[in-house]
Amino acid sequence: MIKNTGLKKNCNYDCIYCQLGHVEKKLRGPEAVQGGVTPGEVVESLQNFHKNVEDLDYITFSGTCEPSLNLRLGEIIREIRKVSEIPVCVITNSSLAGRPDVRENLAEADLVVATFVSGNEATWKKIHRPAPEIKLEEVIEGLRELAELESGPKLALEVMLLESANGSPLNSTDEEVEGLIEAIKYIAPDEIEILTVSRPPAEAYVVPVPEERLREIAERSVSEFGKEKVRLVLKGLKKARSKVRHQNPEEEVYALLLRRPCTFEQVEKALDIEPQVLRPILETLLMAKKIVEVGSSGEEYYKSS
Ligand code: SF4
Repeated sequence: MIKNTGLKKNCNYDCIYCQLGHVEKKLRGPEAVQGGVTPGEVVESLQNFHKNVEDLDYITFSGTCEPSLNLRLGEIIREIRKVSEIPVCVITNSSLAGRPDVRENLAEADLVVATFVSGNEATWKKIHRPAPEIKLEEVIEGLRELAELESGPKLALEVMLLESANGSPLNSTDEEVEGLIEAIKYIAPDEIEILTVSRPPAEAYVVPVPEERLREIAERSVSEFGKEKVRLVLKGLKKARSKVRHQNPEEEVYALLLRRPCTFEQVEKALDIEPQVLRPILETLLMAKKIVEVGSSGEEYYKSS
């Protein structure tokens, strides 16, 4: 949604769990964005890519920037609808949900997956390290308004739970979970996804919440919201991916690793690529120093260097 600026990410947060590392230059808001992509550019790249992919569930906006920072997002979604019947999903960090113009853009999607980590201002700041203009209260109000829209998108809150190895608790304590539940009740989303960090985080002290604790928190959430609304996402891929006909596998692998670090198996599944094809590609990218290998939670990940 933002053209390649030479930065690893274009974001108004600098999350301690970010898989893209530290933000080099935190954006203050949409007005600070230079080089937002245009509806024409998105439709053109979609038409080029779309013919190589089968069985798509969604056309999804995510990646190395916060999509809602592009104020043409709504227009882009409307243009996509002219050329495709595939539903549109926007994955957002929720930071701009308090702005009516951004909400109008998000409202064009079929599904909005919005990050929500805490109902407590201090914890929320500690985890997201947001640009100073962003206020948790406005984020919560904005998400609630989005959930209330009658013909609006389905709203799923993605609750990223974290533990810390430095003795300073994050958002998975009993007190935090109760605060989260209160805030989620107020927002009233259609779905709640509970997960923890799995890829290498920006801060080494951030560690995943153990599976047993995640299950406890999921059960607590089910008791409040019902099991049809709560989904526990355990480590690994959420689902099988679409069938892809490859044009330039090396470029596709590199583009994926620019967006997020992946294990060998994750690249294989995400791109539907044979291991014997993938192995030499990764070796070439490593030799060219375009990617590096890093260990996290006992697994080896490939990420852009
Ligand atoms: S995790 Fe997402 S929202 Fe947070 S800093 Fe990284 S790109 Fe931005």
